[in-house]
Amino acid sequence: MPGATPDGPATYLVTGGAGFIGSHLVDALLARGDKVIVLDNLSTGRLSNLDSDRPRPNLRFVHGSVLDELVVDELVHQCDVVVHLAAAVGVKLIVEQPLRSLTTNIRGSQIVIEAAYRHRRTILLASSSEIYGKNSSGPLREDADRIIGSPAVVRWAYSTAKAVDEILANAYHAERGLPTIVARLFNTVGARQSPAYGMVIPRLVRQALAGQPLSVYGTGAQTRCFAHVADVVAALVALLSTPAAIGQTVNIGSSEEISIRRLADLVIEAAGSPSRVELIPYERAYGAGFEDMDRRVPDTGRLRALTGWAPRHALRDVLADAIAEARAEAAADTAAAPAGQLIRS
Ligand code: NAD
Repeated sequence: MPGATPDGPATYLVTGGAGFIGSHLVDALLARGDKVIVLDNLSTGRLSNLDSDRPRPNLRFVHGSVLDELVVDELVHQCDVVVHLAAAVGVKLIVEQPLRSLTTNIRGSQIVIEAAYRHRRTILLASSSEIYGKNSSGPLREDADRIIGSPAVVRWAYSTAKAVDEILANAYHAERGLPTIVARLFNTVGARQSPAYGMVIPRLVRQALAGQPLSVYGTGAQTRCFAHVADVVAALVALLSTPAAIGQTVNIGSSEEISIRRLADLVIEAAGSPSRVELIPYERAYGAGFEDMDRRVPDTGRLRALTGWAPRHALRDVLADAIAEARAEAAADTAAAPAGQLIRS
């Protein structure tokens, strides 16, 4: 496969490459000598995520949308491998803008997959643990049931859109021989993750550093597993170099399970914050009818068997990095603020 053969460096098209996970993947691909084209509309991504101290002649950024068929076709033509990460992401964004999310996540993926087929390019598609819906058994294997609520509950639109993407990729693989890899990502955390779209750790960290109450939705007894973005990117890179991964759907995530209530306590402790925890009913956070799952733990046996992957970062590393980044950001904001804004009455 490209990037792993004696053919030399490959050219990767990374859609959503200016986003959180995408930009870390771009760093990893460039670091090993590959060329990268990023297609991103900067809706939730930031160009600054691709800033680096060094010049990057092997990186090309294209400001555009995966909904633009001509642009996608041309860029897929120019690359060897497609990594499709562009999506409307984050529970808050999806609940607030369901139509835009659906269009990006279904139509956008269809356009990218069709272009990959036209040009016979290997494509890795980012799916999500959201596809398991309310299945709270665990650890969840890739063949676990999807248990989702009514289509009237907007949260399940994202789950369904990602499921449609997977089905489309699988059909192209089975019926037309398109080399596809479906990566089902569980909660991923690290530098450059925006707090604006409902991601829990960036939000809790910023609240702790500001000395505000940490808002925990529901009872806080619900559990999640948070993977460090470096481990997730290592898994993506490993899958892209593994011929046996073609045609497979693969979970990527941490197996270190923690309740959100306990997570909030750990954030307070790690940040040395005087904050307390405030429980907020789901209806207040996301509106009436919001549904959540009690537990979400991945079985990563397939990923390990295919690639030998093992995570290198524990939850405490994830939190330490998130806190360090939020502190650096706050310091930069303070330095950039005009003097008048710093005077408090
Ligand atoms: P992100 O919001 O940082 O990245 C998404 C990127 O896609 C952004 O840069 C955004 O500007 C771009 N984008 C959105 N719509 C676009 C469009 N129409 N055309 C071009 N670019 C567009 O989020 P992320 O966390 O880096 O997510 C990357 C992928 O991983 C997504 O497919 C997401 O569903 C998946 N995923 C992420 C997580 C997680 O915990 N972060 C979990 C499961 C799945």
